[in-house]
Amino acid sequence: MEMTDENTVMVMKNVMSASVLPAPEGYESRLDCWERITGRKAGKCAHEICNRPATHGALAVRAFSTDTARYIFPACETCARRTEMLYVHGPLVKM
Ligand SMILES: [Zn+2]
Repeated sequence: MEMTDENTVMVMKNVMSASVLPAPEGYESRLDCWERITGRKAGKCAHEICNRPATHGALAVRAFSTDTARYIFPACETCARRTEMLYVHGPLVKM
């Protein structure tokens, strides 16, 4: 898996029902995957205008893009469930 640059901001849309999908193979959770691929501890939610602690690994695709890959970013519980488009700062992990 790859990660995006930490300075990028991408417009993302959460994958619906992601909460019932299994963690990526070999990881305890999506947040664990994000932490191990990026080598960082998840701090705050990656939604640009949110300051809550990140407790979830959100699963999202890029809006307005032909890129169909799924990306993981650290999110609070609320933002992990949002249905609108979100501005998310990197790094995101590309699955
Ligand atoms: Zn949030």
